[in-house]
Amino acid sequence: MSNGTRIDPEEREPRAIKLRQPKHTGRKIVLAVLSVILIVALGGGVYAFVEYGPDFGFTSVITKKPASSETEEPSLPYEPEIPEEPESVPEEPQVPETSEPEPEIPVIEEPVPEEPQIPRDEWFMILVNKENPLSEDFSIETAVIDERGRVVDARIFDDLSAMISAGESEGLDFVIQTAFRTYAKQKEFFEAGTTTAAPGTSEHNSGLAVDISCASGYFEGSPEEAWLLEHAHEYGFILRYPEGKEDITGFEHEPWHFRYVGKEQAVLIKESGLCLEEYLAQ
Ligand SMILES: [Zn+2]
Repeated sequence: MSNGTRIDPEEREPRAIKLRQPKHTGRKIVLAVLSVILIVALGGGVYAFVEYGPDFGFTSVITKKPASSETEEPSLPYEPEIPEEPESVPEEPQVPETSEPEPEIPVIEEPVPEEPQIPRDEWFMILVNKENPLSEDFSIETAVIDERGRVVDARIFDDLSAMISAGESEGLDFVIQTAFRTYAKQKEFFEAGTTTAAPGTSEHNSGLAVDISCASGYFEGSPEEAWLLEHAHEYGFILRYPEGKEDITGFEHEPWHFRYVGKEQAVLIKESGLCLEEYLAQ
């Protein structure tokens, strides 16, 4: 009982203290928490400033200062580099522009396929004249074209026969005077003075040429000549030594001498008005 009375004030005080203590502890906790937050915030701020500071404010300021200072200060190593870079930018589109006309060059080279229209290396386009003689061992496979045993290159037999037959079907009468002549025979004639063409220099040595006359023997001005001048190219033959080309062909005008060059080339040569030397020189 007595203890209860004495103890009561004592017990009241600690009770009051106990009631006040939570108040103090609460403030301390709040202060502690605030201080911790401030410390963490300051610490984090300092840390971020130290670590990431250069990436933000300082770098931008530092880079701006030298950029403005370089334009003001005549620092030679930087100023020429800055104007060169913008100039190189327009140069880059110029590079593809120059590369674009390059593929146009093969487009311009399209005339190249036109050149094969003149098959200079083909057997029927061989050039035989006093400057381009055939060799002594030149040989061909021949075909007989008449009852007298005259022969030509076997490869022109069909076209020659077709031309003669076509003219004869219109009432004309062709006579083959000269066809293939061997190198040896040409040499014999040349040494005898029968011809001015040395061995190998006559187209008759090639087997691609024929001298055509008519039954009357007067070929110039004959219907046979007129018909050949109009139709020979249709069968692959051209008038080899036309009038006015003597200085180029090296031969006088021979109205009877026809040379085989193939149907396609014969048409082109006739249309060109050129002799074979001129045509092949294109
Ligand atoms: Zn002839």
